[in-house]
Amino acid sequence: MLAAEPGAAVGLSAITARHLEKTYLSANRNGSVTETHALSDINLEIAQGEFICIIGASGCGKSTLLRIVAGFESVSSGDLLVMGKPVAGPGPDRGMVFQDYALFPWLSVAQNIAYGPRQAKINDEEVNALTERYLDIVGLQKFRNRYPHELSGGMKQRVAIARVLANDPAVILMDEPFGALDAFTRNGLQESLLHIWGEAKKTILFITHSVDEAIYLSDRTIVLSPHPGRVKLELTIDLPRPRDIASVEFNHFKRIMLDAIAPDIAAETE
Ligand code: ADP
Repeated sequence: MLAAEPGAAVGLSAITARHLEKTYLSANRNGSVTETHALSDINLEIAQGEFICIIGASGCGKSTLLRIVAGFESVSSGDLLVMGKPVAGPGPDRGMVFQDYALFPWLSVAQNIAYGPRQAKINDEEVNALTERYLDIVGLQKFRNRYPHELSGGMKQRVAIARVLANDPAVILMDEPFGALDAFTRNGLQESLLHIWGEAKKTILFITHSVDEAIYLSDRTIVLSPHPGRVKLELTIDLPRPRDIASVEFNHFKRIMLDAIAPDIAAETE
């Protein structure tokens, strides 16, 4: 029997969106209400274990979509299912990694990773085993007793990823997690993330502004267009990994994606 490729679909859908709409209502000082139609008729089927990137011009609803999947925002109409169940709020089946790390500054690296399992009231032995496992996976054993302010940005993001993994969510949501990092650190973390994804077999929904990052990482990239946010393109990146960003094949995907995004970026700067 052939071993499954990392990211291979295993049947049940991890995330399903059906005719999803999101309109924000904001109260103005004069008593009027401004409506912002952030997402329109979003239909998605994301398989378990898939690595999906979401890209698009500013304001196209990337964060809104991620926050709806996380359960931080409600839908205005339509359906959003995670592992076959409607999302009614945040839950342990989903973990979020933020661009600004969102670590607990008063806890050490190991304590940050152990935090979720401890809250879940599993016994100390299991908490310790999970902490060791994820310290190993993200390569931070030597820094286990350091505090967040003593770490580089890349290390902080490794802790944030380990902390989410330790809660064993089915779906990991990442909102431009490497956006604040320099290019070398970013490349290193992309490699680590692909390795972790291959090991942990999680579904990943990853927002990026970088076409290269989307093509390097994802099985499939969803391009959104703004006002209102709609799915403009779904591009399956069927290149073997590790991917060569200088290859003709890579640039073929890059051309398609840039052509899809360029008009929206131009409209944004007009
Ligand atoms: P992106 O992440 O692609 O930049 P967002 O999801 O942040 O886009 O925003 C999509 C649209 O919804 C934008 O027009 C934005 O101004 C609007 N929006 C986002 N959050 C809110 C909110 N809490 N209240 C009102 N409008 C919002």
